[in-house]
Amino acid sequence: MKNIGINGYGTIGKRVADAVQAQDDMKIAGVTKRSPDFEAKTAVERGYDLYISVPEREQEFIDAGIEVSGTADELFEKLDLVVDCTPGGVGARNKEEIYKKIGLKAIFEGGEDHDAIGTSFNSTGNYTNSIDKDYVRVVSCNTTGLCRTLTPVKNLCGIKKVRAVMVRRGADPSQVKKGPINSIIPNPPKVPSHHGPDVQTILEDISVTTMALLVPTTLMHQHNIMVELENSVSTDDILDEFEKAYRVMPVAASLGLGSTAEIMEYAKDLGRSRGDMYEIPVWKESVNVVDNELFYMQAVHQESDVVPENVDAIRAMLGLEDEAEKSILKTNKAMNIL
Ligand code: NAD
Repeated sequence: MKNIGINGYGTIGKRVADAVQAQDDMKIAGVTKRSPDFEAKTAVERGYDLYISVPEREQEFIDAGIEVSGTADELFEKLDLVVDCTPGGVGARNKEEIYKKIGLKAIFEGGEDHDAIGTSFNSTGNYTNSIDKDYVRVVSCNTTGLCRTLTPVKNLCGIKKVRAVMVRRGADPSQVKKGPINSIIPNPPKVPSHHGPDVQTILEDISVTTMALLVPTTLMHQHNIMVELENSVSTDDILDEFEKAYRVMPVAASLGLGSTAEIMEYAKDLGRSRGDMYEIPVWKESVNVVDNELFYMQAVHQESDVVPENVDAIRAMLGLEDEAEKSILKTNKAMNIL
């Protein structure tokens, strides 16, 4: 049983903690918090030992009635691996200033640059690249979504070229100070966006160009994808491949799942923790092959699609499982992923 810690128990960190705790070959040894807020309180209520990143603030936690088990540095000494879920940029600093110095393996999230970490990870795209690695970055929610559906297409019929237009949520649901509230923002206002090169850190040999917009929604991202195919296949072949692919969920708009709002409601009906949707929903009606070009539309639940990938990355890095498929199936079973 491997001891895993979460540094930064926020939107991603709290979900990765629960996903790790649901496995039978790893457990959460503790999580870190900077502030004595509701997430710190619920971490302790969920049974996680809480360690503080800023020791001088211990009295604030005591005053808030939140039990502290020690400092973050004390937690790191107990771990086989830490999952760093701090805001973008902090993880790369932690790598140099903390983890390297104490010889601790670490996973980072999509807010870090690939070059700062060295290896990027997606379960179906390139699992084996991370076996026994010390530092690995689980790519962002958008890149994870693109890799999840492009990998089965690539395996089925080869890819000449990908073009994707990504409609991104303006903020996560709890981010009250972020927008836009009433605007559509080309983000970035240049082409290509950084997402294409990020996909190439996983699927190195495909040509992919992306454009991205921010819109006033907090629920999910939405992607519009055009793929020039190497070999000819039918629309039904692609639909079959999406049905079989891991963590991809073809959905029918005709069943009332024609929007991100209805998909989020469906995730709640599935009884998912926090209403999360770990799979990438692909609208069946949107899948179409015309003159050897594939078109499809998908959604991405930004707060949760990367969570099972973190569990698989832990297995690869700690040598718990050498085969992607075996880890994916084990993680999926423990998390009730369809
Ligand atoms: P968040 O702000 O919700 O959580 C970050 C947590 O880290 C907070 O609890 C914060 O208090 C803590 N923290 C901040 N500075 C710290 C420090 N110096 N030391 C220890 N803890 C610190 O952020 P998030 O949305 O969970 O994002 C975390 C990472 O995941 C980022 O790299 C982000 O790009 C990536 N990511 C986010 C999303 C998303 O939609 N939220 C999706 C995929 C990947």
